[in-house]
Amino acid sequence: MPMEASADGLQPLGQQSERRCPVCALFLSAGTLERQRVWYCQKCRGVFLSNDDFVFIVGRRRARRTGPPAKPAPLNPEELKRRISCPACSMEMDAHPYYGPGNTVIDSCERCRMVWLDHGEVGALAKAPGRV
Ligand SMILES: [Zn+2]
Ligand SMILES: [Zn+2]
Repeated sequence: MPMEASADGLQPLGQQSERRCPVCALFLSAGTLERQRVWYCQKCRGVFLSNDDFVFIVGRRRARRTGPPAKPAPLNPEELKRRISCPACSMEMDAHPYYGPGNTVIDSCERCRMVWLDHGEVGALAKAPGRV
């Protein structure tokens, strides 16, 4: 079966994690983004990854971007109200705007130094105007 990349350019590795998606509660699967190991949900396509990998991946994507930047969609205040649990430590994650380019809300766990990105957020951050 051919492995398909998602809209976020995620490459599946075909392994399952014991961690669960904080949105759907399905087991997360292993994949890579920019060759960095990440965990993702096959249903909602959310991605769980370390802070450092997140910064690295967004930087790589932005450096490679071609064409004009996309105008970011307005921040959705509803996204800031959602509370999800960290797939690694089960503590509540902190929903906050990403303090870089793009009006994206990300969920982060300071304890684990991990972030949760909903489907499409990697692409939105890569296309946002401004500097990395
Ligand atoms: Zn999910
Ligand atoms: Zn955690």
